Amino acid sequence: MNDSWERLYEECASCNACELSATRTNCVFGAGSKDADLLFIGEAPGDNEDKTGTPFVGRAGKLLDEYLDSVGIDRNSVYIANILKCRPPKNRDPKPCEEDACIEFLQRQISLIKPKLIVCLGRISAKRLISKDFKISTEHGLWFDFGGIPITAVYHPALLLRDPRKKEDMAVDMQMISDRLKEL
Ligand code: URA
Repeated sequence: MNDSWERLYEECASCNACELSATRTNCVFGAGSKDADLLFIGEAPGDNEDKTGTPFVGRAGKLLDEYLDSVGIDRNSVYIANILKCRPPKNRDPKPCEEDACIEFLQRQISLIKPKLIVCLGRISAKRLISKDFKISTEHGLWFDFGGIPITAVYHPALLLRDPRKKEDMAVDMQMISDRLKEL
């Protein structure tokens, strides 16, 4: 298919394939460099993201920015997207039927960006993209394969806000990702 960013965005913004379209303020399509080497994939928009239409702009997003800064990755040089483009009410976990309805948008984003590395932010994204049995506590920071693209997962920044003891692991993983990016 001869896809384009414009077509993809329009389809996404007008999508009614699941019940989340009824409660969204904005479709949170994704943001960043369209030819990024590094693609981060989170779970779903929260309240701030729903209001602004931009991923990772709330407290979890600020923490992600700090980690990116600390390992010398410019947020504008990467692309950031989510498994779901619409906010689940009260930030509940995505339902499998919502993921199924939305995943094609992400697959098309990946085809357009052609990233060299993919990083899942949190278990929801890792379970969907790496393996349904993925265990974030033991498998974060390991590399897997996503159709020829190396893929890894790190703790979700929102989890780090609730459990700061995991921040050391996150710092190590982010440094490892930055080092791998420099080797490309
Ligand atoms: N959490 C996510 O997984 N994605 C966002 O965009 C914001 C918070």
